[in-house]
Amino acid sequence: MVEDVVFYSDQKGAAHVRIRARPDRRHQNDCPFCHKHCKYYDSQSTLPRLWRGPDWGGILVEIESHTHRIDCPVHGVLVADVPWAYPGSGFTKDFDLTVGWIATYLPRSTVSEYMRIDWETVGRCVHRTLNDIEPERSRRLDNLVNIGIDETSYRKGHRYITVIVNHDTNTVVWAAQGHGKGVLTQFYRQLTPKQLSSIRVVTGDGAKWITECVNEFTPDCERCVDPFHVVEWAMEALDEVRREVWREAYNEALQPAREHPGKKGRPRADDAGAAMVKAARAKAEEIKNSAYALGKAPEHLTENQQAKVAMIAENNSRLYRACRMKETLRLLLKIRDADEAEAELKRWLWWAGHSRIKAFKELYQKIKRHRGHILNTIRLGMSNARIEATNNKIKLIIRKAYGFRNIQNMLDMVYLVCSDLKVPLPNRKPKSA
Ligand SMILES: [Zn+2]
Repeated sequence: MVEDVVFYSDQKGAAHVRIRARPDRRHQNDCPFCHKHCKYYDSQSTLPRLWRGPDWGGILVEIESHTHRIDCPVHGVLVADVPWAYPGSGFTKDFDLTVGWIATYLPRSTVSEYMRIDWETVGRCVHRTLNDIEPERSRRLDNLVNIGIDETSYRKGHRYITVIVNHDTNTVVWAAQGHGKGVLTQFYRQLTPKQLSSIRVVTGDGAKWITECVNEFTPDCERCVDPFHVVEWAMEALDEVRREVWREAYNEALQPAREHPGKKGRPRADDAGAAMVKAARAKAEEIKNSAYALGKAPEHLTENQQAKVAMIAENNSRLYRACRMKETLRLLLKIRDADEAEAELKRWLWWAGHSRIKAFKELYQKIKRHRGHILNTIRLGMSNARIEATNNKIKLIIRKAYGFRNIQNMLDMVYLVCSDLKVPLPNRKPKSA
């Protein structure tokens, strides 16, 4: 019920509209949680309370109302419900939902500036929005079949959150701060026997503790390794080889300078060594700049990058072999036929094991250890694209919210964005699916 509307300007000259309102008589003693009619308790204060609503044009909107307390048999003595706001909020529901909706698309700083609220408040609005549109999050843990375990660092200095993804719906079903066996155990412990029994496949990186948890809580489950992690391992090995080769080439480039110490340790311009130095430097530089071209799939290389790879093939057989091994492994993971993949993997293992390249011999050991998990992945057709899509979404949220002091805010955003939830905008019919 609107009782009065007043316009005024504050000290800074900003225009406000203040709406004096109250719940209608039938609802003035409702509990904010169960919405049942309760007994009047006391008038808490003589001062009215204020709630901010979304701006009306550029004008700040506020609702003013006198509140009182009620006594709910279930929830105790509480401030009576006001239909325009969530319990405990200093903003209207419309305001909270608007912030929740915008926050799923825009960086937090933009939301904060546009809505004229501070960062922490954006987080609180998102939290209330999430609680309203999904009161029972634990439902996400029902009927899981194919799940993925991933850890993502959210700040430099190795701070992580662990995220459990439902591969069948592409939603995050659980997220928590920290990583490692302790956090994962926490996830499994909260599941009911029925929830545990529906899980058939668990994917993740190569971490030993994932395998340990799978064996402990869901021993009948298939353990898979996300293919993109395997490719990452190969990329790291390749990078190591590249750095090693570059160091050698660089040292070679410096060699003549060491042998002909001229002014400030450099060869003179007319020195015969100068040309050699130049050539060796160029070679080292070429290796240094090849990282991107070597890592990329050959079919996506530009002409310039193709030339670079061809040059490496000609001048540096060790680096080129490493590159080929990485590429063969990447393609092997795309094979759909399990038998064919197994044969290819066997061939690859032989190749890497006999490569006489240290980084790849180590990779060989790692792949051999995970051979069963990798073949599971191929046999069960655990597609890479979907897992990575969710992963990238989470990284994007973290980036947009860079500087989060409050981890709960970050987890709320993960739950809100990596889900099939739709934040309803005020005064609109939800779009039909
Ligand atoms: Zn109640």
